[in-house]
Order: sequence, then C-alpha cells, then structure tokens
Amino acid sequence: MAKKIPMACSECHRILEDDLEQCNAHPEAHCTSDWQGYVVILDPSRSEIATKLGIERAGNYALKVNVR
Ligand SMILES: [Zn+2]
Repeated sequence: MAKKIPMACSECHRILEDDLEQCNAHPEAHCTSDWQGYVVILDPSRSEIATKLGIERAGNYALKVNVR
C-alpha cells in the first residue's frame, strides 16, 4: 500500500506528523503535501540547514515547500 505523503507547513517547513493537516505553531499557515527534501534536524543550534531555514526546534522538516 502506498503511504500517504505527510503535509508540511509553509511557514516553518515542519513536516506534520501522522494525519495532521495543520501546523500547531501556525494555525493560519498554508500546509501542503507538495514539498521536497526531507531533512531531520536533531540539534538546531548546531545545524547549518536549521539556521538557514530559521528552525529553532528539533524535528523533521522539508527543505522546500511549494506554495502557489
Ligand atoms: Zn508551522
């Protein structure tokens, strides 16, 4: 069976867990399954990508979230 693509928040790039369709931190943000580049941030303070994306919390993120 094909696994459903999780949604990602266009505001913080966080990949939403399970069947969530809205980011907890950004209730107004656009969330979409149209994203690219899965990245796991373990320690945001020591991660170049996290700094670049403005990520402050550990978690799973999308490098690019496509918003129309
Ligand atoms: Zn968010």
